[in-house]
Amino acid sequence: MKDAMFRTAQRDRREVESFQDLEATELYCPNCRRPVPVRKFLLLVLPEGDKYEYRCGSCGAIVGDKTERAGRFQA
Ligand SMILES: [Zn+2]
Repeated sequence: MKDAMFRTAQRDRREVESFQDLEATELYCPNCRRPVPVRKFLLLVLPEGDKYEYRCGSCGAIVGDKTERAGRFQA
């Protein structure tokens, strides 16, 4: 019984992690020539925010980027 509970907890945690990886939606990939699920990578931490890039989940090509504001002081 204990073992079953342990396994359930493990699976829950993994689901949360994979959900975070797929946080971004789909973007068009010029290599695959179709919209693909993308992965988000933290690229740079800038004073104006964190810069992320999105890579194709199939071929790994960079299909976009975005800067998320840190939510701190903005002039
Ligand atoms: Zn691709």
